[in-house]
Amino acid sequence: MEMALHRAFIFLGPPGAGKGTQSKRFAERRTLAHLSTGDMLRDAVSRGTELGRLAKPIMDRGELVPDDIVVRMIEERLDGSDCDGGVVFDGFPRTVAQAERLDRVLESRSFGKPVVVDFEVRPEVLMRRLTGRRTCSVCGEIYNVYDAPPRVPDTCDRDGGRLVLRADDRPEVVQERMAAYERQTRPLTDYYRRLGLLQEVDATAGVEEVRRTLEDVLKRVEGRDGRL
Ligand code: ADP
Ligand code: AMP
Repeated sequence: MEMALHRAFIFLGPPGAGKGTQSKRFAERRTLAHLSTGDMLRDAVSRGTELGRLAKPIMDRGELVPDDIVVRMIEERLDGSDCDGGVVFDGFPRTVAQAERLDRVLESRSFGKPVVVDFEVRPEVLMRRLTGRRTCSVCGEIYNVYDAPPRVPDTCDRDGGRLVLRADDRPEVVQERMAAYERQTRPLTDYYRRLGLLQEVDATAGVEEVRRTLEDVLKRVEGRDGRL
């Protein structure tokens, strides 16, 4: 019975820890759907939808958008057939209330207990990652002017799209996002630890080394549970 359950992974960690970078690659490797609430919200903002108009000022301040909105977005997204092979959540859940609701959503849709990976990085490193981050305006590929530069400056290696600085990566907004993380999201590590679902990854090293650490950690979980 266990084998029939869909798989769910949650990538947790502060802004800039590398969740997007790792989760996109991880989803490709394992043919999982990549579900980033940040990407979904930015898409709504750029399309100028009602949701986007509501979310934009909140995101520009570096605060979290209301739980109801993101949970509903996730529920709709989980109806897509691409989620049947499993999903990786990137930047969701971000509050204990979101996590509690996600527990119920996963259970009602025949997902197994999620594997939660917490990416930890020192604050100084986060600052460099966020201020150096550039994102492709076409495909969303993530670069870093210091640590992961494109081959041609300001240009995406994949599709030649223009690389842009996210509005919320300006230093004054970054401070608020870090504060929101400490206040609202960090408690999730305890929430999942108590449930016995939390795996910790030191995400300070380079992208490739973090990928290896992630795979090692998951292999241990696989060995233990025999279910991934
Ligand atoms: P998050 O999704 O957690 O906010 P991102 O994946 O967008 O973080 O990464 C933030 C920035 O740090 C990006 O510019 C990315 O290129 C860079 N980055 C991600 N992982 C690493 C790493 N292991 N080493 C150095 N830079 C990294
Ligand atoms: P991210 O791309 O994950 O860094 O998210 C960018 C911004 O989108 C955050 O600072 C929040 O304003 C908003 N956001 C993304 N995911 C969530 C979430 N799960 N709950 C609330 N707000 C979110």
